[in-house]
Amino acid sequence: MISISGLTKRYRDVLAVDGVTLEVPAGSVCGLLGRNGAGKTTTFKCLLGFARPDAGEVRFDGAPLTPQTFEHLGYVPERPELYSWLTVAQHLEIVRRSQPKYDEAFAKELLATFRLDGRKKAGKLSKGQQTALALIIAIATRPSILILDEPASGLDPVMQRVVLDLLIDAATSGATILLSSHQIGQIDRAADRVAIMRDGAIVVSGGLDDLREAARIVEATFDTAIPDVAAIDGVTRVETAGTTVRVHANGRAPAVAARLGALGATGVRVLDRSLEDLFLDAVDDGGNR
Ligand code: ATP
Repeated sequence: MISISGLTKRYRDVLAVDGVTLEVPAGSVCGLLGRNGAGKTTTFKCLLGFARPDAGEVRFDGAPLTPQTFEHLGYVPERPELYSWLTVAQHLEIVRRSQPKYDEAFAKELLATFRLDGRKKAGKLSKGQQTALALIIAIATRPSILILDEPASGLDPVMQRVVLDLLIDAATSGATILLSSHQIGQIDRAADRVAIMRDGAIVVSGGLDDLREAARIVEATFDTAIPDVAAIDGVTRVETAGTTVRVHANGRAPAVAARLGALGATGVRVLDRSLEDLFLDAVDDGGNR
């Protein structure tokens, strides 16, 4: 389990991480979303001790970060940090020697899955192959905690799917996973929880199913004048287009739909919203994009 509380990091006049509090339970995949510069990488760096937070606390399975934490923590940085002059096999040899939990058979299987040639120097790998090697290094010890900063960037769609399935498998076996990605479809596929960052702060977080449920909206048409739907219990926002209203129901879509029907609306529909819709709403800054 990863517990982050009040994490804050300032770079001169930039508040990169602003009081982030987040819990990722064991067996969960949490997707961290946010626009460029929202603070995702800085959050990861603070979690792992690569940047010194100004405030806040981080715990892994209840304990603070120590060098021993890395025996059961795998990390894939935004830009893979590899030794360009060493081969793929030499990289894995370093992991084998330094990590008691290195699973050689699993690493070999992963090399084959990602079609990586052990004899190739890291500097000669394509961008996607470098990402794949960084991933193999991170997961070949079958860590109980995985932190991945855009782990599928540069990978082809087949390999992206492989990575997501590996993460889902790891979580099913009890691992705690926190990953960032700009590809909302990846988060949608792999994560059961999401946290959306904006200007250093988390503006939305929770279970994906709960967030989707809370985000459903109700659409209805009135043949007569539109009544005061904003006054209905649970309604947070009303958009009107001609005789049609779209009502944000804050998790109370069925009740709001029933009330609209009782008020004489026709064609009442409850609309599901995609994770992309939730993201765009959460990072909306009033058109100043
Ligand atoms: P992206 O999606 O583009 O990778 P991000 O969400 O990971 O972005 P961060 O890299 O955490 O964002 O950056 C958050 C803010 O902190 C940005 O305004 C960035 O310019 C600033 N920042 C990050 N690292 C440093 C640094 N070493 N020195 C000064 N400012 C920094």
